[in-house]
Amino acid sequence: MELLQQKVKDEGVVIDGAILKVDAFLNHQIDAHLMKEVGQTFYNYFNKKGVTKILTIEASGIAPAIMAALVFDVPCLFAKKAVPSTLTEAVYATDIHSYTKNKTSHVVISQKFLSADDNVLIIDDFLANGEAALGLYDLVRQAGADCAGVGIVIEKSFQQGAARLKDEGLDVLSLCRIASLENNKVTLVGEE
Ligand code: 5GP
Repeated sequence: MELLQQKVKDEGVVIDGAILKVDAFLNHQIDAHLMKEVGQTFYNYFNKKGVTKILTIEASGIAPAIMAALVFDVPCLFAKKAVPSTLTEAVYATDIHSYTKNKTSHVVISQKFLSADDNVLIIDDFLANGEAALGLYDLVRQAGADCAGVGIVIEKSFQQGAARLKDEGLDVLSLCRIASLENNKVTLVGEE
C-alpha cells in the first residue's frame, strides 16, 4: 500500500534500531482515511474467503480491524488484555508476550462471540515475532472456528513472525514490509 509505505517513511520514528513508533497515524493519533484504505485493501485480498468475523487485540489493532469490519460487513471482536468484572460468562483465554512492553498478558474473549461456525480474519497493527497473531489464532482454534488468514498493517520482515504464521499454514497479507530498522533508518522490503 503506497500511501502507508510513504507515511511509514515520512512519519515513522525508529527507536534503538528495533522498534518503529508510528504514533502520528496508527498507535496514538489515528489517520482515519488511511485506516479506511487499510480496511479496503484487506477486503480486496480476503473477500472471497467467506469471512464472518474480524478478530484483533486491544488497543492498537482496533483501528484497522474496525475499518475492515465495516467493509466486510461483519462484527469486529477484540481480545481483552485484562478480564473486566463485567465479563462473567465463559471465556477463551491465552497468554501473549508483548515484544514492545516485554510483558506477558493473559488475554480473553467471551465464548459467546466466537463459535465453530465462524471463519475469522485476524488483524493487527504490527507483526514482529508473531506472538500476538499466534495467540489470536489459538483463540480461534479453541472456538473450533476456521481462520481465513491474517492481515497486518506493518510487518517487520527481519523478525520471525511471518515465517511462523506461514508455517501454521496461514495466509498472511502485510501492507507494509520493513526489511531493516538498522541505524534508526526505515528500509522497506525491495529497497535494500
Ligand atoms: P509480535 O507479537 O508479532 O512479536 O509483535 C506484534 C505486537 O507487538 C503488535 O501487537 C504491536 O502492538 C507490538 N509491536 C511489535 N513491534 C512493534 C514496533 O516496532 N512498533 C510498535 N508500535 N509496536 C510493535
